Amino acid sequence: MDQQSYKIALAILYIMSFGGTPDTSNCEIHTPHNILHLWKEDIHVMKNRDRRDTAQKEMTPSKKIPVLVDGVVLNGPQTDVKAGEKFVEEVCRLVMEEVCEWQPPEQLRQLLDLEMRDTGESQDKLLRLCRDVIHFSVKTNHPRFFNQLYAGLDYYSLAARILTEALNPSIYTYEVSPVFLLVEEAVLKKMIECIGWKEGDGIFNPGGSVSNMCAMNLARYRYYPDVKEKGLSGLPRLILFTSAECHYSMKKAASFLGIGTQNVYFVETDGRGKMIPEELERRIGQARQEGAVPFLVCATSGTTVLGAFDPLDEIAEICERHGLWLHVDASWGGSALVSRKHRQLLHGIHRADSVAWNPHKMLMAGIQCSALLVKDKTVSFLLIFGNPVNSTLKCLEATLLLIPCRLGLIR
Ligand SMILES: *Cc1c(COP(=O)(O)O)cnc(C)c1O
Repeated sequence: MDQQSYKIALAILYIMSFGGTPDTSNCEIHTPHNILHLWKEDIHVMKNRDRRDTAQKEMTPSKKIPVLVDGVVLNGPQTDVKAGEKFVEEVCRLVMEEVCEWQPPEQLRQLLDLEMRDTGESQDKLLRLCRDVIHFSVKTNHPRFFNQLYAGLDYYSLAARILTEALNPSIYTYEVSPVFLLVEEAVLKKMIECIGWKEGDGIFNPGGSVSNMCAMNLARYRYYPDVKEKGLSGLPRLILFTSAECHYSMKKAASFLGIGTQNVYFVETDGRGKMIPEELERRIGQARQEGAVPFLVCATSGTTVLGAFDPLDEIAEICERHGLWLHVDASWGGSALVSRKHRQLLHGIHRADSVAWNPHKMLMAGIQCSALLVKDKTVSFLLIFGNPVNSTLKCLEATLLLIPCRLGLIR
C-alpha cells in the first residue's frame, strides 16, 4: 500500500475509533525496536501506578504523542480530519443508491479500474474507485433486494460490524482479544441454551459448509480416535446418511475428509422434502450388509431448496438405537429456535450430538457467521482435534449485539 492510501485507511479507522487526529507538530521518530522498548516501559509504568491515580488520569484526556516509523505515523493519520470525515460521508451516501447496475463480467472488467499500480493514487481517485465498487455491486441491504437465504440490513449488526472492523482483533488468544473472547463464549452459551443442551462447546466457522465438515470430522474422531495419528490407513469403510435434499456441502466434506462421495448414502424424502425415517433405517441395514460401518446421520433443519425440516425426534430415535452420531444441519433453519411460534419445527434437536447454525441467514448477522455447536464437552473435542480453523471473528461482529437483541424481539 502506498503512503497516501495507507494514510486514508488510517484516517477512516482513526475517525471511527478515536474521532480525532494526533498533533504531529512535536513528532518523535521511532524505529520498531524503539517502540517495543517504549511499550515495555509503558507496561512497567502502568503496573506500578496506583489504581485511583490511573482512574483520575483517564478522566482528563491527554494529547496523543504521534509515533513515526519510516516516515509513517503509527498511531494516527497526518491527513486532514475534515477531509477524512467527508470521504467517509461520501462513501456512506453512495452505499444505498440502487440495488445494482448489473453488467456481465467482460463489460464490468472494462468499466472497473482493476490495475494494481506501483505508484500511489490520489484521494479523488480512491473515492472514484469506491464509487465504482458501490455502483456495480449488489446491495443486499437494499429494501428491494430479495434472496432465499439472506437479505436486508440489521442496524445492530451493522454497528457491531463497524466495531469489529475498527478494532480489528484476532481472537486466537485472550491477550489480543479479551472482550471478544468473552463475547464469543457468551454467545455460544446462549445458542447452546436455545438448542436445549445443559452444556456444550462450540466454535464459529467461515460458513455452514465448514461447520458441517467439522461435525463430520468430530463424529469420525469419536468412533476412531486413532485417525488423528494413523490417518485413513487404520479405518474401515465408513458410511454417512443424509437426505436426498441435503446441502451439497455434505458430499464435498466427505470428499475432503477422505470418506469418499460414494459413501454418502442419500435417504429418500417425502413430497415435502423431509427425510423418511423408515428409509433411513433401511439404508443403515443395507450399509451393514455390505460390511461397511455406519457412523453418522445428518438431518437437515431447513433444506436449501424446499425449506423442509427433517423429523428430528424420529431420526434421533434411530440414531440412538444404532449408536450413530446425529448432526443437524440447521444452517438455515436454526434461527427458528429463537421463535416461540416456530421452534417446534426443530423439536428433538436437543438429542443431536452437533448442530450447524448460521446466524448470518435468518438472524441477519454479517456474512459469514456460522456456529458449530457440540453437545459433548467432556473431552473438549474442539480443542483436542476438532477444528481445522481458528474461530473466525466475522461471526462475532454481528452476534455481539444481535443475539441479545433478537432473543428479546422475536416471538
Ligand atoms: C446455507 C446452507 C449451508 C451452507 O452455508 P454456507 O455458510 O453458505 O457455507 C449448509 N446447509 C444448509 C442447509 C444451508 O442452508
